[in-house]
Amino acid sequence: MVKAVILFLVVMAAIALIGNAIAPGSFWRRLGKATGMRRCARCGRPMLGKTCDCGNRP
Ligand SMILES: [Zn+2]
Repeated sequence: MVKAVILFLVVMAAIALIGNAIAPGSFWRRLGKATGMRRCARCGRPMLGKTCDCGNRP
């Protein structure tokens, strides 16, 4: 029974990884488009402030 739960989690993680590999950042791009927020040109994530975390952090 526990094995089935672990297998399910592994399969879900694999699907998420494959989806990210095929279309990287598509989730954030879609989210930014839907909310109408300004998006980061670098990573495509919607910016909460004036700058994005990816540009600030070295
Ligand atoms: Zn960014």
